[in-house]
Amino acid sequence: MVPSSSSILSILLVLLLSPFIVSHALQDRFLKCLSRTSESSFPFSTVLYTPKNSSFSSVLQYSAQNLRFTLPSVPKPEFIFTPLQESHIQAVVICSKQLGIHLRVRSGGHDFEGLSYVSEIESPFIVVDLVKLRSISVDIEHNSAWVQTGATNGEFYYRISEKSNTHGFPADEDLFIRVQIRTANVSRQGRRTITTSYNAMFLGDANRLLQVMKHSFPELGLTRQDCIETNWINSTVYMSGFANNTPPEVLLQRINMDRAYFKGKSDYARKPIPEKALEGLWEKLFEAESPLVVFTPYGGMMNRISESQTPFPHRKGTKFMILYWSSWQDATENVAEHINWTRRVYSYMTPYVSKNPREAYANYRDLDLGMNRNSNASLVEASAFGTNYFKGNLYRLVHVKTKVDPDNFFRHEQSIPPLPLHMR
Ligand SMILES: Cc1cc2nc3c(=O)[nH]c(=O)nc-3n(C[C@H](O)[C@H](O)[C@H](O)COP(=O)(O)OP(=O)(O)OC[C@H]3O[C@@H](n4cnc5c(N)ncnc54)[C@H](O)[C@@H]3O)c2cc1C
Repeated sequence: MVPSSSSILSILLVLLLSPFIVSHALQDRFLKCLSRTSESSFPFSTVLYTPKNSSFSSVLQYSAQNLRFTLPSVPKPEFIFTPLQESHIQAVVICSKQLGIHLRVRSGGHDFEGLSYVSEIESPFIVVDLVKLRSISVDIEHNSAWVQTGATNGEFYYRISEKSNTHGFPADEDLFIRVQIRTANVSRQGRRTITTSYNAMFLGDANRLLQVMKHSFPELGLTRQDCIETNWINSTVYMSGFANNTPPEVLLQRINMDRAYFKGKSDYARKPIPEKALEGLWEKLFEAESPLVVFTPYGGMMNRISESQTPFPHRKGTKFMILYWSSWQDATENVAEHINWTRRVYSYMTPYVSKNPREAYANYRDLDLGMNRNSNASLVEASAFGTNYFKGNLYRLVHVKTKVDPDNFFRHEQSIPPLPLHMR
């Protein structure tokens, strides 16, 4: 029998509409589950955003710090939940487990690869955005604080400063200096040069800093005019990129000065980098429009903790961490070119950085190091990126994961997998 043209049309229509039908049915089942699961009535109107909701996009973009993952081509969640209390999170977790819908959790949204609000490997997915859970209580007497995960560092610093002029977080050692390396134009003809800026924080007065610098870093020629004496909270405002004397209340506005489209990668140096190699690095910087390389010193207190005491393994013997960063402000720029630049610099630096494994900073997530391809993450796949981030601690993390989340419910492209069943 030959199908009539009207039945072909109706099949086509059903095929075209099916994602919406599935999505609608899913939302419906999710909402019913939440009503069933919640002890008190679930405040849907203030907690749930679906794509039909006019504020869906703004809620999704609010904490998306890497604009690359806000582009229309990037997968979007079925819904976003912004819980007001812990029981709301429990209800969402229970329902997403019951209905088999993949879930992502977002706090500040700084993940370099956007994994807290985008899933490239599983569809559909939902986002639990903890932005409304941001209470902070500081107990100066006991040197402790409770901070909910949606609060920013700036909010936390401000609340400490409200209670004390002498406390801060984290309690670093005396001197912290990082080196920021950029390109700059030196002539109208557009000739470029390299600039290195030394961004430092010292817990002490300018006279003592001058003595320390004269002794340890005489090459930098620090003078009194280079120093600003201020209290700790104002120094955090300055280090965040605001002009000196900006009132610290700016920290309550959740402004991120670095919001951009970007790609970042990291390395660890265990030996000084030869001058010749640095000259080659400068050449690489000239290949990009707005490159940034940051050297962050390690050692000090970090050296005194053993490599296996916490998951973070970059301890004794590490001289500094390197960040390679390419960022841009215009959505129409050639993304691949920026990403390729970071890969080329990374490849160029291979002889001068840590090896076996080539260490990387877990906070600067980099999917180039490898990724889980789907929910059945394998230990072999995870070893690729896991040993870069955690070295030998990866296998202990796998055992912890196997205990607390044997079904791998909480997962993403670079999450730690549980042991496969036959190895338990
Ligand atoms: C502009 C910028 C500057 C940065 N500067 C620094 C820096 O100076 N030093 C540094 O160390 N790092 C820095 N980072 C990296 C940043 O610290 C990491 O990306 C960190 O993971 C961000 O935490 P978040 O809560 O903002 O991230 P999110 O993107 O919200 O989350 C990161 C990961 O943690 C998971 N997650 C979030 N909340 C929870 C939760 N409550 N429970 C369980 N899992 C959760 C997410 O699902 C995701 O996998 C910077 C990042 C950016 C974008």
